[in-house]
Amino acid sequence: MNEAFKENLIKVFNGEVSDSEEDIKKASRDTSLFTLTPSLITYPTNTDDVAALVKTAHQAKENGDAVSVTARSGGTDMSGGPLTTSVVASFTKHMNKVLEVGDTYAVTQPGVYYRDFEKETLKKGLLLPSYPASREICAMGGIVANNSGGERTLKYGKTEKYVEELEVVLSDGSVTTFKALNDAELEEKKKLNTLEGEIYKKMDELLTENENLIEERKPKVSKNSAGYALWSIKDKEAHTFNLAKLVCGSQGTLALWTKAKLGLVTPKQHRAMLVVFLTNMDILPEIVQRVLVQKPESFESYDDKTFTLAIKFLPDMLKQMGFIKAARLGIDFIPEIEMVAVGGVPKMILMAEFAEDTIEEADAKATAAREALKDLSLRVEIEKDERQAEKYWIVRRESFSLLRKNLHGLYASPFIDDFVIPPKTYPKFFPELNALLAQYKDHFIYTIAGHAGNGNFHIIPLMNIAKEENRKIVLELAPKVYNLVIKYGGTTTGEHNDGIIRTPYLALLFGKEMEELFEQTKKIFDPLDVFNPKKKVGGTFADIEKDMLRSNT
Ligand SMILES: Cc1cc2nc3c(=O)[nH]c(=O)nc-3n(C[C@H](O)[C@H](O)[C@H](O)COP(=O)(O)OP(=O)(O)OC[C@H]3O[C@@H](n4cnc5c(N)ncnc54)[C@H](O)[C@@H]3O)c2cc1C
Repeated sequence: MNEAFKENLIKVFNGEVSDSEEDIKKASRDTSLFTLTPSLITYPTNTDDVAALVKTAHQAKENGDAVSVTARSGGTDMSGGPLTTSVVASFTKHMNKVLEVGDTYAVTQPGVYYRDFEKETLKKGLLLPSYPASREICAMGGIVANNSGGERTLKYGKTEKYVEELEVVLSDGSVTTFKALNDAELEEKKKLNTLEGEIYKKMDELLTENENLIEERKPKVSKNSAGYALWSIKDKEAHTFNLAKLVCGSQGTLALWTKAKLGLVTPKQHRAMLVVFLTNMDILPEIVQRVLVQKPESFESYDDKTFTLAIKFLPDMLKQMGFIKAARLGIDFIPEIEMVAVGGVPKMILMAEFAEDTIEEADAKATAAREALKDLSLRVEIEKDERQAEKYWIVRRESFSLLRKNLHGLYASPFIDDFVIPPKTYPKFFPELNALLAQYKDHFIYTIAGHAGNGNFHIIPLMNIAKEENRKIVLELAPKVYNLVIKYGGTTTGEHNDGIIRTPYLALLFGKEMEELFEQTKKIFDPLDVFNPKKKVGGTFADIEKDMLRSNT
């Protein structure tokens, strides 16, 4: 690290600035396949600190120094998004307050862990329904910057839908708030003789000149976190222009957000779950189509390998839950333990949860869905009691954590971890995918869990990445899977975002012209490349190779 940069920063920054071995080590990993060693970790206390940090980096850049700033909140990203060799702005230490919960919204800082945010919103009976499965360990910073989604996204959509306003620090260190502007307000902003004014002027031009291309290339699946969401800025019905919708999902490459106003919903109070034990994958699309008619709040799935691992590591999982809950769940899991013991594990468990104002309404929907599956000769159960449904949720939500914690010698390797395909394409897509994966059966086993209702699947290979031949597979298999996903009209990432692992595939997914628009967008917001370089724009296959972990721990 350039010592002059550190000295200049300390003069204007109120938070801690650290290059201690411990802090550097902590920030050198997320949950991706990568590791990068940052040179400096900063802990801003407020927006002024973030602005001072970015201004100092901007000045250093103008002087030709190789400095950049990468945001970090919970550090649970699966794509390498918060990793850097330069300066980290770490939000969870100080900028971790929920500032207000109104009747329909909350105002929050980025460093609030989701679990704490939810405690506050639930006091008013409100919820951010796009929370991810990592809800216990991730923070609001990444939820917004990754445009996260989760189990309730099927009904409620992703985080972008709930981002109303973002206070942001721009790449020159200036501070502004992005929110929905009407035509007159937009014209006023365009007159500003500042970076903000430039951004409004040039982004409006870019969107107007390329309207058809953007509309045509917008992913046609129900969830997407790939690329920059150029299609989300203008709301044609409301006649508004909102750059907060673009910053959402941009992985800290366009601006750092310091305060967010997020819309909330009042969740339905009663739930009934239809559980389908699937032994023949060929009928998965038919099941999904029939169940979706009843509009479940969530429609999730996990496969036989996840199921078996969960039972194998059940004592470890239950240990974290306190004696009484662990004892109860231990009993609830007895049928599953028996299934594993006698070799009767279904290929996939599907969980469709119906949420309504009364239990009778929820049950009626689950029952109608069960009726719709009657002729398929499946084992199907309805869990009316949320306590009974809990065991299924535990396995689904813990599916990735299970892999990370318990398989010494093998690394849970996210590189084909988040594609989305239209559900109607399952019958053609899955046999081709399985044939592809079968070519690598000597190198890894894998688990599949995901959001069956949305067509969003998480495939996590478990492999020994200390071996070079296995690391090579990451770059060999991913394009094959992505070509297949693209052939069937899908996207490479529904929620986990691009980061180091998927940025080089953006041209494949969107085409060269759209890639150029992403490059122009980055240039408009961040001409000196101050923010999180090589993510979204400029990342290469060589970066993937270079920064990949070389050991399984
Ligand atoms: C077990 C497990 C399950 C998961 N399940 C899901 C899931 O269901 N859905 C899902 O979407 N993801 C999931 N993820 C991935 C990840 O947890 C989420 O995307 C999460 O929202 C990231 O939040 P974070 O605070 O940990 O972000 P971080 O890892 O800290 O950062 C993520 C990205 O956001 C940027 N960023 C952080 N703070 C800011 C800021 N203030 N301003 C600008 N940029 C910022 C970072 O630079 C980085 O690019 C899962 C991960 C794990 C480990």
